[in-house]
Amino acid sequence: MPAPNRSSDAAPYRAWFECYNRCGARYSLKEIVYTCENCGSLLEVVHDREPLAKSSAPRWMRLFEDRYQRTQWPYGSGVWGKKEWVCPVVDDENIVSMFEGGSNLFWAERYGKEIGVADLWVKQCGNSHTGSFKDLGMTVLVSVVKQIISEGTDIHAVACASTGDTSAALAAYCAAAGIPSIVFLPRGKVSTAQLVQPIANGAIVASLDTDFDGCMRVVKEVTRDRTIYLANSMNSLRVEGQKTVGIEMVQQFDWEVPDTVIIPGGNLGNVTALGKGFLMMKDLGLIDRLPRIVVAQAERANPLYLSFQNGFRSFEPIVARKTLASAIQIGNPVSIRKAIDVLQKFDGIVEVATEEELSNAAARADRTGMYNCPHTGVALGVLEKLVATGVIESDERVVVVSTAHGLKFTEFKVRYHEGVLEDVATRYRNVPLELPADPAVVRDALRREIDRRREGERR
Ligand SMILES: *Cc1c(COP(=O)(O)O)cnc(C)c1O
Ligand SMILES: [Zn+2]
Repeated sequence: MPAPNRSSDAAPYRAWFECYNRCGARYSLKEIVYTCENCGSLLEVVHDREPLAKSSAPRWMRLFEDRYQRTQWPYGSGVWGKKEWVCPVVDDENIVSMFEGGSNLFWAERYGKEIGVADLWVKQCGNSHTGSFKDLGMTVLVSVVKQIISEGTDIHAVACASTGDTSAALAAYCAAAGIPSIVFLPRGKVSTAQLVQPIANGAIVASLDTDFDGCMRVVKEVTRDRTIYLANSMNSLRVEGQKTVGIEMVQQFDWEVPDTVIIPGGNLGNVTALGKGFLMMKDLGLIDRLPRIVVAQAERANPLYLSFQNGFRSFEPIVARKTLASAIQIGNPVSIRKAIDVLQKFDGIVEVATEEELSNAAARADRTGMYNCPHTGVALGVLEKLVATGVIESDERVVVVSTAHGLKFTEFKVRYHEGVLEDVATRYRNVPLELPADPAVVRDALRREIDRRREGERR
């Protein structure tokens, strides 16, 4: 049985870790445990359904709407506004929040028309404190750590391996809480912005001569010492925060369920979370159907896609090859089992995008007002493919989950527009006009450029 909650917890709501292999093991959310001590399986957070089901669906919806983006601590956060569903065991004073969630659901009107789906939306999870969706999960994990410390457990630091965005989020939330952080990054495989974020936030930054999967092996060893708490998505607390992305997008559609949701996948924590949020809404009666979920992978880091092709009968880890979508350059995803279970419940599809497809899709959508990171480019490339082949029909409501802010990936954008990305024939380059400061020359050049573009539109 889970440890009983203290009176200060958000009684009557209760949640605990449970073995995902269903061996029966349970642990308190405040225990320092990441995998099942009986059988080694992943854990998942399970919520006591009974108190949650005591409120009707309309009551939950009204509560979530009343709190959304407002001022009452900590409920204005898109994550903590759903605290009872996410993590009831943290006292409000231990919550470390930066008003995460509440990100724009962008109506991609022009881009959607161009590619042939008019009801297209992009959930801008990168419009967040550290510029990626990782904030949604990290607020929960760091808050639980603060709670554990406040109850007297000795934790010296929180550590993660990262493809860049997890470490940025961990470093910022720990810095806000005054808890030391340690991040392991694969040397030369993260963007400048992603490297400098944890440096600026004062994290201990270890740059290792390996890839993400190699960093993961090191952090698992280092965190055997329980005074260093593990923050990777193997720690299923993060999934609880991230699952609000699906709930929030449905709320933003006034509780209507989209037909298809496309999400880029690497370690596969985010698709697990997306699915979990939808299943919880369905279970508690807020929605009556599920969307189809599409996981978009880089063709060079496609282990889930390979498994999908054999009907998920088997899964083999691979060595991921270098891709512009560096945050999903992962060959041995931690959450593989959970992700496959989600895809099987959501009529799921896995599709890939090449370097050229992801780059051109990102740039094409940028031309309609977005500013896409390469991972969002993978999802858009997959979208274009599935629309072209009729798998996604033109009248569907489609949501693409954008995972990070494009401003973290300036090198990618600069090199695209310079036309120097390897293996990419650029279709949407835009180069600055280099001109003397002479009004007559400038006027002529502008005229030519405007005419050229108008001509291009007519064709
Ligand atoms: C972490 C990350 C992903 C992949 O999410 P997973 O949970 O590892 O599948 C995708 N895009 C960006 C920008 C990320 O930071
Ligand atoms: Zn077990």
